[in-house]
Amino acid sequence: MAKGNIPVTKNQVLEVAIEDLTHEGAGVAKIDGYALFIPKALPGEQALVKVIKVNKGFGFGRLLEVIKKSEDRVDEPPCQIFDQCGGCQLQHLSYDGQLKQKQKQVRDVLERIGKITDVVVYPTLGMGDPWRYRNKAQVPFAEREGGLIAGFYQERSHEIIDMNSCLIQHEENDKVVQAVREIATKYGVRGYNEEKHQGTLRHVVARYGVNTGQLMVVLVTRSRELPNKNEVIEAIKEKIPNITSIVQNINSKRTNVIFGDETVLLWGEEYIYDTIGDVKFAISARSFYQVNPEQTKVLYDQALQYANLTGSETVIDAYCGIGTISLFLAQRAKRVYGVEIVPEAIDDAKRNAKLNQMDNVDFAVGEAEKVIPWWYAQGIRADCIVVDPPRKGCDEALLETIIKMKPKRVVYVSCNPATLARDLRVLEDGGFKTIEVQPVDMFPHTNHCEVVARIELINE
Ligand code: SAH
Repeated sequence: MAKGNIPVTKNQVLEVAIEDLTHEGAGVAKIDGYALFIPKALPGEQALVKVIKVNKGFGFGRLLEVIKKSEDRVDEPPCQIFDQCGGCQLQHLSYDGQLKQKQKQVRDVLERIGKITDVVVYPTLGMGDPWRYRNKAQVPFAEREGGLIAGFYQERSHEIIDMNSCLIQHEENDKVVQAVREIATKYGVRGYNEEKHQGTLRHVVARYGVNTGQLMVVLVTRSRELPNKNEVIEAIKEKIPNITSIVQNINSKRTNVIFGDETVLLWGEEYIYDTIGDVKFAISARSFYQVNPEQTKVLYDQALQYANLTGSETVIDAYCGIGTISLFLAQRAKRVYGVEIVPEAIDDAKRNAKLNQMDNVDFAVGEAEKVIPWWYAQGIRADCIVVDPPRKGCDEALLETIIKMKPKRVVYVSCNPATLARDLRVLEDGGFKTIEVQPVDMFPHTNHCEVVARIELINE
């Protein structure tokens, strides 16, 4: 019997209609208003499900059988380990379906959280070929009876599953990881044992400059000592002739964090380079750099178009990272001020400005919500403010300063439509208006959704 007014019980099997998809990628069915989340079920489907968890306000079900299939269902997702991995959530949905879904999610959340109904949300800009797009692989290594394994953590666990290929990863990175696995096996480099905190090789990080062909491999080890170091280096050079840089990073802590504090160049260049549009970037072992440069260009072009610069403007780029957006904007602005909380990212940003001979950019380390009010107090006024905050969105103090500073326009780049919607409401209440919103698919087959919005000042 169902408890209270919850219409389902644990282990009950029932047929449901899937009405929606959560932003985590689970199908949603409503039973007398009670929401049941069913991973791998798609909107428009009729499905047989088993209730596996019943909470007060919502429950979870397991998909047993699809009775009526969505036209957008992909019967056999191309990746063999899609069900175990958790890295991708949407391979069972056609790419076109994914793009439509992301557009719908943005529209829904703007309406529900931001109470913004009268704004254009364009169709999501997707990739022509939505596979093999990632330029960085970070693969955990471990040891099982008789051998090294290199794979991924099984969803919601710390169990490593062996993997030979990841279909959203660039082939070059796949090649590097497999080569290191063979070489490490040959030269007796043991995989890390997390429980005992023993063994050597913890992670292999491969980074590829898709537009320059440069390739970096980082061996993250528990100790400074790397058995047969010289042989390992020579073997990597021989097996991967296009390698540009071989780096060791030492992480001796018991931690989930991949990198330790010490980085040593073993062979080759300290940096690899890549370009986005006409701007060149230097990438070190630990630099933050966008993982899908092709779509990053699409996103930044959109941001630049929304910024509508003529060359005479002062622009602020808040949450600027290594200055990628700042340098893009600097090509068209009089002066750009970038601010970012991570000091190493600002070091990279300054190096990148020099590399591109751009001297109309200033970078500051600090919290955007402290530095920008301080700039304001110093008399700095921006014609345009670009923000690209982490998932939690903009700090309120920053939004307040934007409202006080009254730039003609704000360009909001967001990786979380829910906090975007919340912050747009604050800006709208402060005299701005959201004009248009463009979702861009930076991470095909995953539930991540990137958005850029144009916001204009309406009350002077
Ligand atoms: N615009 C960059 C990076 C955006 S990611 C790009 O496109 O590559 C968001 C960035 O905000 C991260 O680099 C993070 O370190 C930084 N950040 C987080 N909280 C911050 C804060 N309070 N003030 C300034 N930067 C912050």
